[in-house]
Amino acid sequence: MKRYSLTTTLPYVNSDPHIGFALEIIQADIIARHKRAEGYKVFFNTGTDEHGMKIDQAAMEQGKDTQAYVDEYAAKFDRLKQALNLSYNSFIRTTDPHHIAAAQEFWKRCAASDDIYKKQYKIKYCVGCELEKTESELDHGHCILHPNLELEIIEEENYFFRFSKYQQPLNVLGDSGTG
Ligand SMILES: [Zn+2]
Repeated sequence: MKRYSLTTTLPYVNSDPHIGFALEIIQADIIARHKRAEGYKVFFNTGTDEHGMKIDQAAMEQGKDTQAYVDEYAAKFDRLKQALNLSYNSFIRTTDPHHIAAAQEFWKRCAASDDIYKKQYKIKYCVGCELEKTESELDHGHCILHPNLELEIIEEENYFFRFSKYQQPLNVLGDSGTG
C-alpha cells in the first residue's frame, strides 16, 4: 500500500488553542482525507510542544506544577479532534517517553558524525516571541511585538548544529527540485 505522512506544527501549550491553529489543522485534515480517498495509508500527526520558558512561566503564573499544566493543555488540544471532527491518528507530546528516546537517538547520531559543536553566545531574547532579537527588530530596546516585556540577555555556552556542512547537498536538492 502506498504511504503518505504529514504533520502539523506542534503548538506551544502556553495558551488555549486559537483560530490560527484551527485553520492549519483543518487544512492538514483535508489533505489527509484526500490522500486516504486516493488509496494511501496515511500517517497524520499533530501534537504539542511542551518545552520552553514561556510554558514554564505560564504554569507559574497559574500557580501550577509545570507537568500538571502541560498535561491539562495537551488534553485541551487533543479535544480539537472531536470539536473539529479531525482524522489524525498520531498525537505526539514532546514529553512523551518515545519522543524523548527518539530525540536522544537523533542527538547521539549527530554527535557521532561531528554535527554538533559548542559555542559561547550572547543574545537578546524575547520570551513573548521565543526568539532572539537583533537590533533592527527592536524599538527603544523593546521587542516591536511585545513592547511591555523586558528582553532577557542570555549569555551561555550552548550546542549548535553544524548546518554549514549540509549547505552543498541541500543546494543540490533545491536545484533538482526546481529544475
Ligand atoms: Zn517579542
